[in-house]
Amino acid sequence: MPLDLTASSIELTRQICDIESVSGHEKALADAIETELTRMPHLDVLRDGDLVVARTNLGRARRVVIAGHIDTVPVNGNLPTRFETADGVDYLWGRGTVDMKPGVAVALKLAAELTAPAVDLTWLFYDHEEVASDQNGLARLARTRPELLAGDFAILGEPSNGAVEGGCNGTMRFDVVTRGKRAHSARGWMGENAIHKAAPILRLLADFEPETIEVDGLAYRENLNAVLVGGGVAGNVIPDECRIHVNYRFAPSRRPDEAEAKMRALFEPLGEFELKDLSPGARPGLDDPLAQEFLAAVGLEAKPKYGWTDVARFSVLGIPAVNFGPGDPSLAHADDERVPLAQITACEDALRAWLS
Ligand SMILES: [Zn+2]
Repeated sequence: MPLDLTASSIELTRQICDIESVSGHEKALADAIETELTRMPHLDVLRDGDLVVARTNLGRARRVVIAGHIDTVPVNGNLPTRFETADGVDYLWGRGTVDMKPGVAVALKLAAELTAPAVDLTWLFYDHEEVASDQNGLARLARTRPELLAGDFAILGEPSNGAVEGGCNGTMRFDVVTRGKRAHSARGWMGENAIHKAAPILRLLADFEPETIEVDGLAYRENLNAVLVGGGVAGNVIPDECRIHVNYRFAPSRRPDEAEAKMRALFEPLGEFELKDLSPGARPGLDDPLAQEFLAAVGLEAKPKYGWTDVARFSVLGIPAVNFGPGDPSLAHADDERVPLAQITACEDALRAWLS
């Protein structure tokens, strides 16, 4: 199904949502995006897997990267989309209407429309954001063709309720493992109960008071939580292993190795520590002149982002990046995802005003 880039951003959001593109099935949507952008003489278009990148090359002094993922989490009876009104607010309802097809629609519409922008522009539409990080299209491009991500400032159209959200917390996951000795539970004294040994770990987690840390003027609230627990052999066996899976969300001022050291210091006295995953946060970078110009132009104050987003990938490359997109992030991945139509138009107008 072809996309109509001259339609309103609201109508374009509907068209994009109705091309189902659950992670791994982005091809049809990537094809439609590539086809339309390739028609535009002011854009150089490249395809990498199901990632499409379109760039102006006008010799401007500065370049802004505007990126959005085109995949969604699985559909659950919420496609095709529909328009609905609740409490006097008009919405588009359905999978992708928050995370993050309205941001993609706004970017696509402006990519086609802005033939002579104030800065050079790189428009990135990428695949596999909603799955494991090693499949992420943006990460792939950063590895294989980092020059295509180059820029002075980046905007990710992830849902932020139309506000500007700077940076993001880092995230790490690890197991704390306790060991014991199996025995028949009728003679429990012959064994050593690994689940009971987990009690101090759970107590530490329950009592832990996470910090709120100010970074570049924004307050980042940290989180430390057990998210999974496993252990036990059978109903009549003293368990010899218990595994508590912990997620730590840390302020972007902490380096990943510092965050890891902090967790090891807490948990190594209580069990074996096994690191599973560690992603750095991103400083908001709002002291950058382009970021300041952007905030002034859209007339918004920045807020901290708590969830991990791909802004961190730009941060690693030394490019300040913010989230700015329509939709309430707390509805992302929910079955009743819906976006207020006015937020789509407001984001479109703000970006157009700044980039024109
Ligand atoms: Zn998203």
